[in-house]
Amino acid sequence: MSIAIYPGSFDPITNGHLDIITRAAKLFQKLIIGVYDKPDKQLLFSTEERAEMVSKTIAPLPNVEARVFTGLAVDFAKEVKAQAIVRGLRMSGDFENEFDLAMMNKRLAPEIEIVCLMSDMKYQFLSSSLLKEAARLGGAIEDLVPEHVAEALIKKVHTQM
Ligand code: ADP
Repeated sequence: MSIAIYPGSFDPITNGHLDIITRAAKLFQKLIIGVYDKPDKQLLFSTEERAEMVSKTIAPLPNVEARVFTGLAVDFAKEVKAQAIVRGLRMSGDFENEFDLAMMNKRLAPEIEIVCLMSDMKYQFLSSSLLKEAARLGGAIEDLVPEHVAEALIKKVHTQM
């Protein structure tokens, strides 16, 4: 069975992530979204909240599931018997980071392929960090995330004010 993981922080999941997930789900028989437990950045949502938002978002996709993982993405890939790691590439800035990450992952686990999908034009400039900033400043975010994520985000930024 062809299995891939799509690892990330998903703080929170956006329509850009969802677009990559929907497309990757057509390429692999099973896609496992890896919600990274402890990324090296400040997070707005807890691991449980991020994983729950991912699970709710992917509910309509039958061959997609969400799991929390700790440690290296390649180790998580091996644990779930995935042959590939999916990543999304936006035009501005992602390439260099993703290239370095892919080279490191290849060294760590040469048998696992890194599959990068180009971000759709609509989501090129969408990132979780910009989204959070827009939400904090009261910007309209409804077109950028699933409805339940917009609600959670607005609630969260209000409790922090
Ligand atoms: P990370 O902490 O690994 O950067 P993210 O959750 O921010 O985790 O992103 C996970 C993956 O999704 C990365 O490969 C990232 O480049 C990709 N991604 C993020 N936003 C978008 C977007 N708008 N369009 C396509 N891919 C995206």
